[in-house]
Amino acid sequence: MFKKAKEMIEKANKIYVVGHINPDGDAIGSSFAVYFALKNMGKDVNVIMPKYSESFAFLPGIANAVESVEEECYDLLIAVDSSVKTRLAISEKDYNKAKQVIMLDHHKTSEPFGDFQYINSEIPAASQIIYDFLTEIGCEIDKTIATYLYAGIVTDTGSFNYSSTKPSTLLIAAKLLELNIDFSEICKKLNDTIKEAKLRLIALTIDNMEVYFDGKFRYSYVSYEDIKRLGLDEEDAEGMTNYLRMVEGTEIAVAVRGKSNGTNKVSMRSNGKVDVSKIAISFDGGGHARAAGYTMPKDLETSKKELLDAVGVMLK
Ligand code: AMP
Ligand code: MN
Ligand code: MN
Repeated sequence: MFKKAKEMIEKANKIYVVGHINPDGDAIGSSFAVYFALKNMGKDVNVIMPKYSESFAFLPGIANAVESVEEECYDLLIAVDSSVKTRLAISEKDYNKAKQVIMLDHHKTSEPFGDFQYINSEIPAASQIIYDFLTEIGCEIDKTIATYLYAGIVTDTGSFNYSSTKPSTLLIAAKLLELNIDFSEICKKLNDTIKEAKLRLIALTIDNMEVYFDGKFRYSYVSYEDIKRLGLDEEDAEGMTNYLRMVEGTEIAVAVRGKSNGTNKVSMRSNGKVDVSKIAISFDGGGHARAAGYTMPKDLETSKKELLDAVGVMLK
Protein backbone atom coordinates (compact mmCIF):
# COMPACT_ATOMS: atom_id res chain seq x y z
CA MET A 1 0.00 0.00 0.00
CA PHE A 2 2.80 2.44 0.91
CA LYS A 3 5.49 1.07 -1.43
CA LYS A 4 5.90 4.25 -3.45
CA ALA A 5 6.01 6.39 -0.31
CA LYS A 6 8.66 4.07 1.13
CA GLU A 7 10.83 4.61 -1.96
CA MET A 8 10.33 8.36 -1.75
CA ILE A 9 11.52 8.32 1.87
CA GLU A 10 14.49 6.08 1.09
CA LYS A 11 15.70 8.53 -1.56
CA ALA A 12 15.18 11.61 0.58
CA ASN A 13 17.53 13.07 3.15
CA LYS A 14 16.19 16.50 4.15
CA ILE A 15 12.59 15.97 5.20
CA TYR A 16 9.93 18.17 6.84
CA VAL A 17 6.78 16.84 8.48
CA VAL A 18 3.71 19.03 8.87
CA GLY A 19 0.20 18.73 10.30
CA HIS A 20 -2.63 21.23 10.22
CA ILE A 21 -3.09 24.68 11.74
CA ASN A 22 -4.64 24.70 15.24
CA PRO A 23 -2.75 21.47 15.94
CA ASP A 24 -4.72 18.90 17.91
CA GLY A 25 -3.51 15.68 19.51
CA ASP A 26 -3.84 13.75 16.25
CA ALA A 27 -1.91 16.29 14.16
CA ILE A 28 0.80 16.42 16.82
CA GLY A 29 0.76 12.65 17.40
CA SER A 30 1.08 11.77 13.73
CA SER A 31 3.69 14.46 12.97
CA PHE A 32 6.00 13.52 15.81
CA ALA A 33 5.59 9.77 15.32
CA VAL A 34 6.82 10.22 11.74
CA TYR A 35 9.54 12.61 12.93
CA PHE A 36 11.01 10.19 15.48
CA ALA A 37 10.73 7.23 13.11
CA LEU A 38 12.63 9.08 10.37
CA LYS A 39 15.19 10.32 12.88
CA ASN A 40 15.77 6.69 13.88
CA MET A 41 16.36 5.97 10.16
CA GLY A 42 19.09 8.62 10.16
CA LYS A 43 17.18 11.23 8.16
CA ASP A 44 17.62 14.98 8.60
CA VAL A 45 14.07 15.73 9.67
CA ASN A 46 12.05 18.53 11.30
CA VAL A 47 8.44 19.02 12.30
CA ILE A 48 6.83 22.30 11.29
CA MET A 49 4.25 23.30 13.85
CA PRO A 50 2.74 26.58 14.99
CA LYS A 51 2.09 27.39 18.63
CA TYR A 52 0.35 24.51 20.42
CA SER A 53 -1.74 24.30 23.55
CA GLU A 54 0.23 23.91 26.79
CA SER A 55 -1.61 20.67 27.46
CA PHE A 56 0.72 19.00 24.93
CA ALA A 57 3.91 20.31 26.53
CA PHE A 58 4.43 17.04 28.45
CA LEU A 59 5.08 15.13 25.21
CA PRO A 60 8.80 14.27 24.93
CA GLY A 61 10.65 16.32 22.31
CA ILE A 62 7.67 18.44 21.26
CA ALA A 63 9.75 21.60 21.79
CA ASN A 64 11.92 20.54 18.80
CA ALA A 65 9.23 21.76 16.39
CA VAL A 66 10.14 24.64 14.06
CA GLU A 67 7.82 27.22 12.49
CA SER A 68 9.24 27.43 8.99
CA VAL A 69 11.72 26.00 6.49
CA GLU A 70 15.24 27.46 6.63
CA GLU A 71 16.60 25.93 3.41
CA GLU A 72 16.02 27.05 -0.17
CA CYS A 73 14.72 23.59 -1.01
CA TYR A 74 14.31 20.17 0.59
CA ASP A 75 13.72 16.61 -0.59
CA LEU A 76 10.39 15.65 0.89
CA LEU A 77 7.40 17.05 2.74
CA ILE A 78 5.20 14.60 4.65
CA ALA A 79 1.79 16.10 5.44
CA VAL A 80 -0.40 14.36 8.01
CA ASP A 81 -3.94 14.78 9.37
CA SER A 82 -5.05 17.21 6.65
CA SER A 83 -5.83 16.72 2.99
CA VAL A 84 -6.73 20.39 2.53
CA LYS A 85 -3.59 22.18 1.37
CA THR A 86 -4.58 25.58 2.72
CA ARG A 87 -5.10 24.06 6.16
CA LEU A 88 -1.54 22.79 6.44
CA ALA A 89 0.61 24.60 8.98
CA ILE A 90 3.13 25.56 6.28
CA SER A 91 3.34 28.66 4.09
CA GLU A 92 2.82 28.24 0.36
CA LYS A 93 6.43 29.36 -0.17
CA ASP A 94 7.80 26.64 2.13
CA TYR A 95 5.44 24.05 0.61
CA ASN A 96 6.77 24.85 -2.87
CA LYS A 97 10.37 24.30 -1.73
CA ALA A 98 9.64 20.56 -1.41
CA LYS A 99 10.76 18.37 -4.31
CA GLN A 100 8.11 15.81 -3.45
CA VAL A 101 5.10 15.57 -1.15
CA ILE A 102 3.56 12.62 0.68
CA MET A 103 0.11 13.13 2.19
CA LEU A 104 -1.45 10.73 4.72
CA ASP A 105 -4.89 11.59 6.06
CA HIS A 106 -8.31 10.44 7.23
CA HIS A 107 -10.56 13.41 6.31
CA LYS A 108 -13.17 13.73 3.61
CA THR A 109 -11.83 16.35 1.24
CA SER A 110 -12.69 17.61 -2.20
CA GLU A 111 -9.22 18.59 -3.44
CA PRO A 112 -6.40 16.43 -2.09
CA PHE A 113 -2.74 17.20 -2.93
CA GLY A 114 0.67 15.52 -3.08
CA ASP A 115 2.76 13.15 -5.25
CA PHE A 116 1.76 10.25 -3.01
CA GLN A 117 -1.72 10.47 -1.52
CA TYR A 118 -3.29 8.15 0.98
CA ILE A 119 -6.66 9.08 2.44
CA ASN A 120 -8.84 6.64 4.34
CA SER A 121 -11.83 8.35 5.91
CA GLU A 122 -12.92 5.07 7.52
CA ILE A 123 -10.00 5.28 9.95
CA PRO A 124 -10.74 7.37 13.06
CA ALA A 125 -7.29 8.96 13.47
CA ALA A 126 -4.39 9.86 11.21
CA SER A 127 -2.19 8.40 13.96
CA GLN A 128 -3.75 4.98 13.31
CA ILE A 129 -2.80 5.29 9.63
CA ILE A 130 0.71 6.33 10.67
CA TYR A 131 1.03 3.18 12.79
CA ASP A 132 0.28 1.03 9.74
CA PHE A 133 2.47 3.22 7.56
CA LEU A 134 5.53 3.03 9.83
CA THR A 135 5.06 -0.70 10.37
CA GLU A 136 4.78 -1.36 6.65
CA ILE A 137 7.84 0.66 5.71
CA GLY A 138 9.83 -1.24 8.34
CA CYS A 139 10.27 1.34 11.13
CA GLU A 140 10.41 0.05 14.66
CA ILE A 141 7.78 1.63 16.92
CA ASP A 142 9.62 2.67 20.08
CA LYS A 143 8.15 4.01 23.31
CA THR A 144 8.35 7.67 22.24
CA ILE A 145 6.66 6.99 18.90
CA ALA A 146 4.03 4.90 20.70
CA THR A 147 3.33 7.74 23.14
CA TYR A 148 2.62 10.12 20.26
CA LEU A 149 0.49 7.62 18.33
CA TYR A 150 -1.54 6.82 21.43
CA ALA A 151 -2.08 10.54 22.12
CA GLY A 152 -3.32 10.98 18.54
CA ILE A 153 -5.64 7.99 18.60
CA VAL A 154 -7.08 8.91 22.01
CA THR A 155 -7.75 12.48 20.82
CA ASP A 156 -9.63 11.57 17.64
CA THR A 157 -11.60 8.64 19.05
CA GLY A 158 -12.73 10.43 22.22
CA SER A 159 -10.74 7.83 24.15
CA PHE A 160 -12.18 5.00 22.01
CA ASN A 161 -15.76 6.16 22.60
CA TYR A 162 -16.69 7.61 19.21
CA SER A 163 -18.51 5.34 16.79
CA SER A 164 -15.59 5.77 14.36
CA THR A 165 -13.46 3.50 16.60
CA LYS A 166 -12.67 0.20 14.85
CA PRO A 167 -11.55 -3.19 16.19
CA SER A 168 -8.24 -2.41 14.45
CA THR A 169 -7.97 0.80 16.51
CA LEU A 170 -8.09 -1.17 19.75
CA LEU A 171 -5.68 -3.80 18.44
CA ILE A 172 -3.18 -1.06 17.64
CA ALA A 173 -3.77 0.57 21.03
CA ALA A 174 -2.98 -2.79 22.63
CA LYS A 175 0.30 -2.97 20.68
CA LEU A 176 1.17 0.53 21.91
CA LEU A 177 0.39 -0.42 25.52
CA GLU A 178 2.78 -3.35 25.21
CA LEU A 179 5.54 -0.78 24.79
CA ASN A 180 4.97 0.39 28.35
CA ILE A 181 3.66 3.83 27.52
CA ASP A 182 2.12 5.77 30.39
CA PHE A 183 -1.38 5.67 28.86
CA SER A 184 -3.11 6.81 32.03
CA GLU A 185 -0.89 9.92 32.27
CA ILE A 186 -1.43 10.67 28.55
CA CYS A 187 -5.21 10.62 29.06
CA LYS A 188 -5.02 12.64 32.26
CA LYS A 189 -2.93 15.35 30.58
CA LEU A 190 -5.00 15.44 27.39
CA ASN A 191 -8.56 14.99 28.63
CA ASP A 192 -8.70 15.52 32.32
CA THR A 193 -6.63 18.59 33.17
CA ILE A 194 -7.67 22.17 32.38
CA LYS A 195 -6.74 25.65 33.56
CA GLU A 196 -9.28 27.50 35.69
CA ALA A 197 -9.55 30.03 32.86
CA LYS A 198 -10.71 27.26 30.54
CA LEU A 199 -13.43 26.29 33.01
CA ARG A 200 -14.57 29.92 32.83
CA LEU A 201 -14.53 29.76 29.02
CA ILE A 202 -16.75 26.68 29.18
CA ALA A 203 -19.12 28.65 31.45
CA LEU A 204 -19.17 31.56 28.98
CA THR A 205 -19.77 29.21 26.03
CA ILE A 206 -22.74 27.69 27.83
CA ASP A 207 -23.99 31.14 28.88
CA ASN A 208 -23.92 32.33 25.26
CA MET A 209 -25.73 29.24 23.95
CA GLU A 210 -28.62 29.78 21.54
CA VAL A 211 -31.13 27.05 20.79
CA TYR A 212 -32.89 26.49 17.44
CA PHE A 213 -35.09 23.92 15.70
CA ASP A 214 -36.77 22.63 18.89
CA GLY A 215 -33.45 21.98 20.59
CA LYS A 216 -32.00 20.02 17.70
CA PHE A 217 -29.42 22.73 17.03
CA ARG A 218 -27.29 24.46 19.67
CA TYR A 219 -25.00 27.38 18.79
CA SER A 220 -22.60 29.48 20.81
CA TYR A 221 -20.11 32.24 20.03
CA VAL A 222 -17.14 33.46 22.05
CA SER A 223 -15.13 36.43 20.84
CA TYR A 224 -11.34 36.61 20.68
CA GLU A 225 -11.52 39.49 23.19
CA ASP A 226 -13.33 37.26 25.69
CA ILE A 227 -10.77 34.48 25.21
CA LYS A 228 -7.97 36.98 25.85
CA ARG A 229 -9.80 38.59 28.78
CA LEU A 230 -9.96 35.18 30.46
CA GLY A 231 -6.19 34.92 30.06
CA LEU A 232 -6.30 32.18 27.43
CA ASP A 233 -4.56 31.86 24.07
CA GLU A 234 -6.64 30.98 21.06
CA GLU A 235 -5.25 27.46 20.88
CA ASP A 236 -6.62 26.86 24.41
CA ALA A 237 -10.15 27.53 23.21
CA GLU A 238 -10.69 24.22 21.37
CA GLY A 239 -13.22 21.62 22.40
CA MET A 240 -16.13 23.85 23.41
CA THR A 241 -18.63 22.20 21.06
CA ASN A 242 -18.70 18.98 23.04
CA TYR A 243 -20.50 20.59 25.97
CA LEU A 244 -23.32 21.82 23.73
CA ARG A 245 -23.59 18.45 22.02
CA MET A 246 -24.20 16.63 25.30
CA VAL A 247 -27.64 18.14 25.85
CA GLU A 248 -30.39 15.60 25.18
CA GLY A 249 -32.31 16.07 21.94
CA THR A 250 -29.37 17.81 20.24
CA GLU A 251 -28.59 16.73 16.67
CA ILE A 252 -26.01 19.37 15.77
CA ALA A 253 -23.90 21.62 17.98
CA VAL A 254 -21.73 24.49 16.82
CA ALA A 255 -19.24 26.58 18.78
CA VAL A 256 -17.76 29.57 17.01
CA ARG A 257 -14.71 31.39 18.30
CA GLY A 258 -13.06 34.58 17.20
CA LYS A 259 -9.44 34.33 16.19
CA SER A 260 -6.58 36.82 16.51
CA ASN A 261 -6.57 37.41 12.75
CA GLY A 262 -10.18 38.62 12.87
CA THR A 263 -11.75 35.48 11.37
CA ASN A 264 -14.27 33.23 13.11
CA LYS A 265 -13.66 29.50 13.42
CA VAL A 266 -16.66 27.16 13.32
CA SER A 267 -16.47 23.86 15.14
CA MET A 268 -19.36 21.46 14.42
CA ARG A 269 -20.42 18.22 16.04
CA SER A 270 -23.23 15.85 15.14
CA ASN A 271 -24.85 13.19 17.26
CA GLY A 272 -25.07 10.92 14.23
CA LYS A 273 -28.14 11.72 12.14
CA VAL A 274 -26.58 14.54 10.13
CA ASP A 275 -23.25 14.40 8.28
CA VAL A 276 -21.82 17.78 9.31
CA SER A 277 -18.85 17.43 6.95
CA LYS A 278 -21.33 18.19 4.14
CA ILE A 279 -22.16 21.54 5.75
CA ALA A 280 -18.47 22.29 6.41
CA ILE A 281 -17.44 21.40 2.85
CA SER A 282 -20.19 23.68 1.48
CA PHE A 283 -18.41 26.53 3.31
CA ASP A 284 -14.96 25.44 2.06
CA GLY A 285 -14.05 23.55 5.22
CA GLY A 286 -13.92 19.83 5.88
CA GLY A 287 -13.89 17.09 8.47
CA HIS A 288 -15.86 13.98 9.27
CA ALA A 289 -19.54 13.00 9.53
CA ARG A 290 -19.62 13.75 13.24
CA ALA A 291 -16.94 16.43 13.58
CA ALA A 292 -16.21 19.11 11.04
CA GLY A 293 -15.19 22.72 10.79
CA TYR A 294 -14.59 25.77 8.65
CA THR A 295 -13.66 29.42 8.79
CA MET A 296 -16.65 31.73 8.41
CA PRO A 297 -16.44 33.17 4.89
CA LYS A 298 -18.35 36.36 5.73
CA ASP A 299 -19.04 38.54 8.78
CA LEU A 300 -20.37 36.80 11.88
CA GLU A 301 -24.06 37.66 11.46
CA THR A 302 -24.25 36.86 7.73
CA SER A 303 -22.32 33.61 8.11
CA LYS A 304 -24.44 32.62 11.09
CA LYS A 305 -27.62 33.11 9.02
CA GLU A 306 -26.15 31.00 6.22
CA LEU A 307 -25.22 28.32 8.73
CA LEU A 308 -28.72 28.31 10.22
CA ASP A 309 -30.17 27.90 6.72
CA ALA A 310 -27.81 25.01 5.95
CA VAL A 311 -28.57 23.32 9.28
CA GLY A 312 -32.31 23.78 8.69
CA VAL A 313 -32.05 21.98 5.35
CA MET A 314 -30.06 19.11 6.87
CA LEU A 315 -32.48 18.67 9.78
CA LYS A 316 -35.51 18.37 7.46
P1 AMP B 1 -12.60 20.97 15.20
O1 AMP B 1 -14.01 21.34 15.36
O2 AMP B 1 -11.70 22.14 14.96
O3 AMP B 1 -12.12 20.06 16.26
O4 AMP B 1 -12.52 20.17 13.85
C1 AMP B 1 -13.33 19.04 13.63
C2 AMP B 1 -12.87 18.31 12.41
O5 AMP B 1 -13.06 19.11 11.25
C3 AMP B 1 -11.40 17.98 12.45
O6 AMP B 1 -11.24 16.69 11.92
C4 AMP B 1 -10.77 19.00 11.57
O7 AMP B 1 -9.65 18.47 10.96
C5 AMP B 1 -11.84 19.36 10.59
N1 AMP B 1 -11.78 20.79 10.27
C6 AMP B 1 -11.92 21.82 11.14
N2 AMP B 1 -11.78 23.01 10.53
C7 AMP B 1 -11.55 22.74 9.22
C8 AMP B 1 -11.30 23.56 8.04
N3 AMP B 1 -11.27 24.88 8.10
N4 AMP B 1 -11.10 22.90 6.87
C9 AMP B 1 -11.11 21.56 6.81
N5 AMP B 1 -11.33 20.75 7.86
C10 AMP B 1 -11.55 21.32 9.05
MN1 MN C 1 -6.62 16.94 13.57
MN1 MN D 1 -7.28 13.58 12.86
